[in-house]
Amino acid sequence: PSLEYEFTRRRIQTNIGEIWNYFSSELAKISKVVASKGHKELEESISQVLVQGAEHKRSLLSDMEHMRRSDGYETWRHKEARDLSDLVQRRLNHLQNPSDCQNARKLVCKLNKGCGYGCQLHHVVYCFIVAYATERTMILKSRGWRYHKGGWEEVFQPISKGCHIAGTANAYNWPGKPNTQVLVLPIIDSLMPRPPYLPLAVPEDLAPRLKRLHGDPIVWWVGQFLKYLLRPQQPTREFLFAGMRNLGFERPIVGVHVRRTDKVGTEAACHSIGEYMTHVEDYYRTLEINGSSVVRRVFLASDDANVIEEAREKYPHYQIIGDPEVARMASVSTRYTDTALNGIILDIHLLSMSDHLVCTFSSQVCRTAYEIMQTMYPDASHRFKSLDDIYYYGGQNAHNRRVVIAHSPRTHEDLQLRVDDLVSVAGNHWDGNSKGKNTRTNQVGLFPSFKVEEKIDTAKLPLYPGI
Ligand code: GDP
Repeated sequence: PSLEYEFTRRRIQTNIGEIWNYFSSELAKISKVVASKGHKELEESISQVLVQGAEHKRSLLSDMEHMRRSDGYETWRHKEARDLSDLVQRRLNHLQNPSDCQNARKLVCKLNKGCGYGCQLHHVVYCFIVAYATERTMILKSRGWRYHKGGWEEVFQPISKGCHIAGTANAYNWPGKPNTQVLVLPIIDSLMPRPPYLPLAVPEDLAPRLKRLHGDPIVWWVGQFLKYLLRPQQPTREFLFAGMRNLGFERPIVGVHVRRTDKVGTEAACHSIGEYMTHVEDYYRTLEINGSSVVRRVFLASDDANVIEEAREKYPHYQIIGDPEVARMASVSTRYTDTALNGIILDIHLLSMSDHLVCTFSSQVCRTAYEIMQTMYPDASHRFKSLDDIYYYGGQNAHNRRVVIAHSPRTHEDLQLRVDDLVSVAGNHWDGNSKGKNTRTNQVGLFPSFKVEEKIDTAKLPLYPGI
């Protein structure tokens, strides 16, 4: 398929969601006004329009899914995804297994950043991207890991078959000198100067293929590093299989992650279980639009056990799969233990294996699951509903979108946009509008989400010839 075809197909799919977000939230606002004035009949009519509109939207999304499956390019998509992934995995394997370890250039990464598992994984992925870009073998320091004192290699396969020691004689902190053999990295927020290849950039040599294959190339790119890193040791593999079997994990299934406890009120808002379930319901209704019926399964992960119990009580017609015991261990006081580590590994694994994710992208747990999910499908970029943020990578460089349709402000809150302006995007309000800054005018404000497209940043990276 041409790039234009794939790009347009995905754009239509996204914008079916956007047009529905717009109409449904505008109608809800009008309905409130109408209700406050006591116009019962009008309120009822609006409510009917909303019901019909939602069904219409689901039908369109279902048609798009059907179109993708039957346009004759599905085999190509699967093959291209496999080829690209194999290529990157070969390069990582080559990087991590130098023929002369003693003299190889290395990059030291300390796993034990003082934060949660998802945050630590993202720290390691950032190190790995720098290692890939500077052609250095990554050495992961993980002894005394807060989740497992014995270190990474007891849980996941070592990231190198035999090159594990950095040697400190010639070690320098970032950015080091041209002849620095061992480079030590700080956390991404303290990295100075900042190289152009940090997320959200993807390698220039792969970009043309990625843009055609995938709706959000950077998520695919991050997913490839996680794929390499998270190859389980045998006991971990067995534990994951057993966990899946014991829970009765079966597809189709929607993965729901409800982040509560220490996150709520500090870094994120509290969302009721009903908010998540509205989107789960919508997913299943889309699946069942042609009259078929499926068992409505939800895999529910949380750091609050009450959430699982509440969901089971309130949604008896759903099969809610989840382990309250795992959720109990996920609270702050017991989080950094072996049992809790098993819990979070299993939860992220099952979330990533779901058909669709409903969660808050403010949580690194869900963003990690979404990244890994990209390794399970040729393109899983549309298989999510975030209740808050759009996808981001902590510490990322600018996130710009290019204006494709000009915009004249509707209110004083709106941005003025000219075609080809770059907007640095801050978030999506999921009501048809996004928020951002026009980099030409420095104006900050709202704009209709459909009037822009992603500007995919690329960076010149080593080509790994012959690999
Ligand atoms: P964030 O704080 O939500 O952005 O994500 P982090 O992964 O950085 O830290 C949260 C930590 O809380 C996780 O790593 C887990 O240890 C724990 N946690 C949060 N949500 C869950 C969950 O759904 N299941 C399990 N097992 N643990 C969780």
